[in-house]
Formats: sequence, C-alpha cells, structure tokens
Amino acid sequence: MSKPAYKRVLLKLSGEALMGDDAYGINRGTIERMVADVAEVAKLGVELAVVIGGGNIFRGVAPGAQGMDRATADYMGMLATVMNALALADAMRHVGVTARVMSAIGIEQVVEPYVRPKALQYLEEGKVVVFAAGTGNPFFTTDTAAALRGSEVSAEIVLKATKVDGVYSADPKKDPNATLFPSITFDEAIAKHLQVMDATAFALCRDQKLPIKVFSITKPGALMRVIMGEDEGTLVHV
Ligand code: UDP
Repeated sequence: MSKPAYKRVLLKLSGEALMGDDAYGINRGTIERMVADVAEVAKLGVELAVVIGGGNIFRGVAPGAQGMDRATADYMGMLATVMNALALADAMRHVGVTARVMSAIGIEQVVEPYVRPKALQYLEEGKVVVFAAGTGNPFFTTDTAAALRGSEVSAEIVLKATKVDGVYSADPKKDPNATLFPSITFDEAIAKHLQVMDATAFALCRDQKLPIKVFSITKPGALMRVIMGEDEGTLVHV
C-alpha cells in the first residue's frame, strides 16, 4: 500500500455534517460513519487535529438568535461545538481511537483547556486532538479556528469536510453547467469570487501558505483518498 501524503493534518468538520439527514442535532449513524473514516486514517499513523463546528446545534447569526446580543449568541455557538466535540471524542473511544478534547474557553470540569504544547504532545503521541469552542472569541467561526489551530500545530493542510464535494464555478444546485475545480490558487479563488471558507479563515490560510482541501465527508472513502493524495474534492493552494 502507498504511503499517506501527509504526516499531520487539520480536519475541519462542520456541525452540519453531523446531522445526516436530520434537521438538527447529532445523527448516530452519521457520526459513527464519520468516526470510522477518521479511525482508519489515525491507524495509518497520520496525526489528526480536528476542529468541530456547531451549526447543527446553534449558529450565532441564525434566526433563533435574532434579537440576541451577537457576542452572547456566539458564545452559545461555541458551547455547541463543545457538545459536538464530546460526542465525537466519545464515538472515537468506541472504535479504539484515543482522542483529547481541548477547549478555547475555560470549562475545566468538562474538558481541558487548549494549551498549545500539550496539543502538540498529544499529536506526537498519536492521539486525535479535538479542538472545541472555536477560537474562543465571538465574531469568528470554526473555519477561522481551523486556519488558526492548523497554523499553530504546523499542519500541512486544512481538510475542510462538508456536505459539498468541492469548490464549483457556480452553485451546482442552481446551475447545471457548474464545474468542480480539482485545484485552484488562492488568488484565482479571490478573482473568481469563490466561497471556500469565510474571509478571515481564507486570509489566514493564504498568509500562512497553508493549503486547503475541500471535500465531502458524506462520500464513502473520500477522507482516505484525500489523505492518500488522490484526486478528490478541490485543492486550494498558493
Ligand atoms: N463561534 C464563535 N467563534 C468561534 C467559532 C464559533 O463565535 O471562534 C460561534 C458562532 O456563533 C458560530 C457558531 O459558534 O455561528 C458555530 O460555529 P460555525 O458556524 O463555524 O459551525 P459550522 O458551520 O462549522 O457547523
């Protein structure tokens, strides 16, 4: 078998990817499938740092948060990511993968705080590190947390796992002529006004020359193909 293309990656899982076909929350079958994919990769010896979103439970700018103070709503969103992180780490335990959850906001009775050297140590020990509570700051997103933590732990790439299988020239749901870009530069993505990650996350990856791979986590075997460096999704590079 060929070797993985990466030694250390930052995997960004959107909260919505945990919903499956449900309207909200965590779908058991979906999280189990996802974790089985993650376990396969971890068992290859690839060091995995994970940033989990919270959109399946709470989004600071969602209708449910309308009228709320934005920062308060965002803290609720960050707490939602902690719930997802706990569920994810627990599901990993079931398949024999050791995971550690580290939170960007102090909630020590539940999970340990994010301490960079500790996170690096866990990664070197082959544990999966799940970063919860995003950046710990309101007005940001978990995509930005992925770019930030990815840079901090010197990940070789940010793997943005969503429900869409890559970056398209137009919205494939609306335009039948939309085509998928197998690879694109940061500058081309900006020139073509393509939405890869939110602007802050995108700018951070670009500044740090940290490539992004956008792919669908719902597609069987997609994560493994990405890890093996095979054609899958869209690579955004310098
Ligand atoms: N959030 C935040 N700061 C962060 C990360 C997240 O305030 O650094 C809040 C924000 O309200 C966001 C919610 O948490 O809407 C859930 O995160 P996100 O929308 O990024 O999750 P995803 O879309 O990946 O499920």
